Amino acid sequence: MPELRQNFFTKEWVIIATERAKRPEELATHRPAQSLPPFVETCPFCPGNESKTPPEIMRFPANASQPWAVRVIPNKFAALSREAQPARSQQDVWRRIEGFGFHEVVIDSPDHSCCMALLPDEQVASILRVYKERYTLLSMDRRVNHVTIFKNDGLDAGASLHHPHSQIVATPVIPSQVRHRLHEALRHYDDAGECMFCHMVERELEDQTRIVIKSEHFVAMEVFASATPFATHIFPLRHMATFGDISATEIADLARVLRSLLAENPDLNFTVRSGPSDYASARHFHWYVSVIPRLTRVAGFELGSGMFINTVLPEAAAEFLRNIGAGKAEGAGASAS
Ligand SMILES: [Zn+2]
Ligand SMILES: [Zn+2]
Repeated sequence: MPELRQNFFTKEWVIIATERAKRPEELATHRPAQSLPPFVETCPFCPGNESKTPPEIMRFPANASQPWAVRVIPNKFAALSREAQPARSQQDVWRRIEGFGFHEVVIDSPDHSCCMALLPDEQVASILRVYKERYTLLSMDRRVNHVTIFKNDGLDAGASLHHPHSQIVATPVIPSQVRHRLHEALRHYDDAGECMFCHMVERELEDQTRIVIKSEHFVAMEVFASATPFATHIFPLRHMATFGDISATEIADLARVLRSLLAENPDLNFTVRSGPSDYASARHFHWYVSVIPRLTRVAGFELGSGMFINTVLPEAAAEFLRNIGAGKAEGAGASAS
């Protein structure tokens, strides 16, 4: 029988359509191996072509005499402009803010052919450290109210360039989807006197059925009321409201968990869902990483109602991911190699 499930964080309902359920293996097709060369003469992100991008914002390692491993540049086709000022205006029912913001590209690796899933854990950790540094610096700008860190991996996920990269967008407003989660988190804290994310993680760890990977500092799990197949959330086990609070040890552990999850997925988007930086010590919010494989397309019912139909049972997705080896990072934090 089909079942409606409510998302504990957002209170949104989804339909888990078991009648029309596909088995996870029908959807979880590995992307065909792309035989990309490690260097492409015309690619602006490849080493040697640095002059084809806007001037770089930061690089790792910082020493310019060494080759870069991770590089941050302004997006040449930025959605928002750092030159603008977030001046607000309202005329009758029309409210506007000038298009101020930051839109940056993180070049994940000098290697054109290597997607994040195939990078060494240490390189993924370097990318995460760069995310943290940019998150912290952008958050210090008083005009910035929210920083979104995300990756579009694969053409189905909206990536327009093959060279592996992530993006960071800092906006002068808190997006309404984020605001909604913050409100629900605060409401839960008022009602129950606890972080709803910590509470949910504790219950999921007891239940076990949706857990994919449990490492020393993180847990990756399928979402109980997942709107789309294989939506996976990675939570820090320690309560932290913002990504800026992550420690060096936790970054190394997250790199292992993230990379092993990505290795099992086709085209996907991932997002670091963090509270705004002013939430640093907030007790009611808890940051996490959301990994959404792009296996299905949004159609009329979803657009018309905002309600999603998920054809894969989250428990079956978790079992599938554990079986094909995403769970092999289990205990990874305890046994660093
Ligand atoms: Zn390239
Ligand atoms: Zn928490």
